[in-house]
Amino acid sequence: MDSNLYIYNTLSRTKEKFEPLHPPLVGLYVCGPTVYSDVHLGNCRTFVMFDLIFRYLLHLDYKVRYVRNITDAGHLEGDMDEGDDKFAKKARLEQLEPMEIVQKYTLGFHDVMRLFNALPPGIEPTATGHIIEQIEMVKQILNNGYAYEVNGTVYFDVEKYCKEFNYTILTNRQLDDLLENTRELGGQNEKRGRLDFALWIKAKPEHIMQWPSPWGTGFPGWHIECSAMSSKYLGNSFDIHGGGMDLAATHHTNEIAQSQACHHVQPAKYWMHTNMLTVNGTRMSKSKGNGFLPHELFTGSHELLSRGYSSMSVRFFMLQAHYRSTLDFSNEALEASDKGFKRLINAYSLLEKLNPSHKSDIDLKSLTERCYAAMNDDFNSPVLIAELFEAVHIINSVYDGKTAATSDDIEELKKLMDNFVIDVLGLKQESNQSDDMGKLLDFIINLRSEAKVNKDYATSDKIRIGLNSIGIQLKDNKEGTTWNKI
Ligand SMILES: [Zn+2]
Repeated sequence: MDSNLYIYNTLSRTKEKFEPLHPPLVGLYVCGPTVYSDVHLGNCRTFVMFDLIFRYLLHLDYKVRYVRNITDAGHLEGDMDEGDDKFAKKARLEQLEPMEIVQKYTLGFHDVMRLFNALPPGIEPTATGHIIEQIEMVKQILNNGYAYEVNGTVYFDVEKYCKEFNYTILTNRQLDDLLENTRELGGQNEKRGRLDFALWIKAKPEHIMQWPSPWGTGFPGWHIECSAMSSKYLGNSFDIHGGGMDLAATHHTNEIAQSQACHHVQPAKYWMHTNMLTVNGTRMSKSKGNGFLPHELFTGSHELLSRGYSSMSVRFFMLQAHYRSTLDFSNEALEASDKGFKRLINAYSLLEKLNPSHKSDIDLKSLTERCYAAMNDDFNSPVLIAELFEAVHIINSVYDGKTAATSDDIEELKKLMDNFVIDVLGLKQESNQSDDMGKLLDFIINLRSEAKVNKDYATSDKIRIGLNSIGIQLKDNKEGTTWNKI
């Protein structure tokens, strides 16, 4: 299998031709959510972008094994093995069991992903379901000499690792800078080196989520779960590892070190990172109070929004920026995306209503090639969308009788829109534009036709004007009456 797909690899900092290790199989691992609170919009963007990537790989006929984990244990508040356990803290706050917290927010996450029309991964492993695999991996890293145990906690020995491998290979940061930005070890600290991180953490007696291990009861460090689960389901070396850009410096850097120390190989051939979501130009974060939850967007219950937006309009908004660019969130940008999405999906619904001609005024071959070229250039969805608006222009023009298209052209247009709008971008007609709406409108249009037959023009005009006032335009032609959204 040969495609012209190029992927920007964070490891090499260049776009590389995509050549999977075992074509047509592709192993894709994406770091999933930590399910201790509602998933916020920045996380949603990451998962929607990887959904686009997953969908395009499927479209290219790769057999993709997509693994996205659920972090349901072992994530402490601080990135350097300090602070409270996120699940235990939330469980105390909500007066629930930690696993009730996990269940509640896992279900919420799945609901949101469904609303965004994201395809589910093939495997969604949990950290608590893979404690044995994580313990085995820690044992192997200890055996290989890249870790040490102190009083029931096992640390990865970054200094030892650095003597043989490039620890900062992913971000290309200087080790000295890294050390400078890391706190001095206090007198009580068990770590030998400032950059060392925990593979296994000894549990305090009151800690609810703990498991027996060769080093006493404890729980896994956060980074080890992804190494253990990716190698279990995708092998020690696989094709693509992805996640948010904020994970590269610590979490993914440590994943690479763990896999090298355990299996003596780089885990992933291509590392892909999505950029941040900003709000009116500043980074979205809970502490700044500009964090959005998906339901606030759908209902419009956020002070920065003038109204609610549908999940498909928000998905379209996300797709309008390249996954490696920042995406700035504002009411105006959402408003513009909402209009754009409606234009696109409205043109899609007109496809069934186009009248073929004997001659052709359009060149779909070059348009189709440009759509593939956009996606092959590191999944460039904004360029793809710009090309699709060329298709929208053609569809509207054929519908209005200004441009001629043969029945073959119309079939090609349908294929193009099905492939890129529905399959690759993952957009769909929303419920109010769906079949139910179509059936209801057909019913109203029939009532109007009857009124016209009975010369009851007052009623037929009332229906036409009434529908127009709610954004539905009727057009009478020889074959009958058609409708479209305006
Ligand atoms: Zn991860």
